[in-house]
Amino acid sequence: MTSRREFFKDAAGTTAGIAFVGCGLMSEAAAQPQARRREVVVNGRRVKTVDVHAHCAVPEAMALLGRKVEPQTLLMSQAADRLRAMDDQGVDVEALSINPYWYKVDRDVARELIRIQNEKLAEACAANPERFVAFASVALQHPDLAADQLEEGVKKYGLRGAGIGGSVNGEELADPKFHPFWAKAEQLGVLVFIHPQATGVAAELPSRLKGNGGLENVIGNPLETTIALSHLIFEGTLDRFPGLKICAAHGGGYLPSYAARSDAGCVTFPERCSKPLKKKPTEYLRQLYFDSLVFTPEALRHLVAETGSSQIVMGTDYPFPWTKTSVDHILGTPGLSDAERVAMLGGTAATLLGIKA
Ligand SMILES: [Zn+2]
Repeated sequence: MTSRREFFKDAAGTTAGIAFVGCGLMSEAAAQPQARRREVVVNGRRVKTVDVHAHCAVPEAMALLGRKVEPQTLLMSQAADRLRAMDDQGVDVEALSINPYWYKVDRDVARELIRIQNEKLAEACAANPERFVAFASVALQHPDLAADQLEEGVKKYGLRGAGIGGSVNGEELADPKFHPFWAKAEQLGVLVFIHPQATGVAAELPSRLKGNGGLENVIGNPLETTIALSHLIFEGTLDRFPGLKICAAHGGGYLPSYAARSDAGCVTFPERCSKPLKKKPTEYLRQLYFDSLVFTPEALRHLVAETGSSQIVMGTDYPFPWTKTSVDHILGTPGLSDAERVAMLGGTAATLLGIKA
């Protein structure tokens, strides 16, 4: 294993396409003409683009729970395909994350599962250090353990933050039981990426979301994020931990689309807002981060208007084929300055994730 890892290190930065010769791809890759890597340029300047929303899976960790990887494109042993897609789309760096499937697991299994997973994430990054960074996975159902896992992930494995779900077994991220985790994330100054999951709000509203259209995902996922962020605002979690750096998937779900209602609620029914907040609810949107996965120029323009361009980072959702044009989406949205485009394409994410310019 060590020698194989050493090989990856040597290969990194030279010909990414053959880095995974260990998987039997050498002859195939060598036989094909070298695909061209799209280099994104804004006003004559090369921009290092960063995708904060990229999924992967660690089969060794999933095996502990008898689970199998699906789809196979999540595997980092298929990094050659992933790198080809990144090259095609103009993505220089992916920040890898793993959607939680371990939130019901007891403490001992959770400790082992996360250790394996974070170790493998670190290996995947080390194999292609110019192209991958990763968010640590944490067992958030055990908040004190999750805090330790985040610290170990950052300090021992070089991971750049944490990826978490939008709720934990029906409990809100704003629940005080999770304060030890938020305190650690704030103390470390690392980014926490919140991604909704199928076991979130969709699991609690199954009868309303069944039927044609895949609404458990299409509506359920952004709704889960909307609820998670709203509680973090209204329960005072963001006041308690003002240094937190949180990035929400899918443009923050529906929250930025209808943000003004969050302000109007406490004006219209003040008796329902018994916990005082330090700011207007919508003002918290300007300290959160959001990925750009909102599909149209108009949706991105609106997200910028509600949150500020400094709060938006590029997200693709790889390997799930929601979009292949994240770069063009940001380049093609009218009304942005060059500096704003550079920040959204990768500048802001590079700062948040400690990626060298
Ligand atoms: Zn996703």
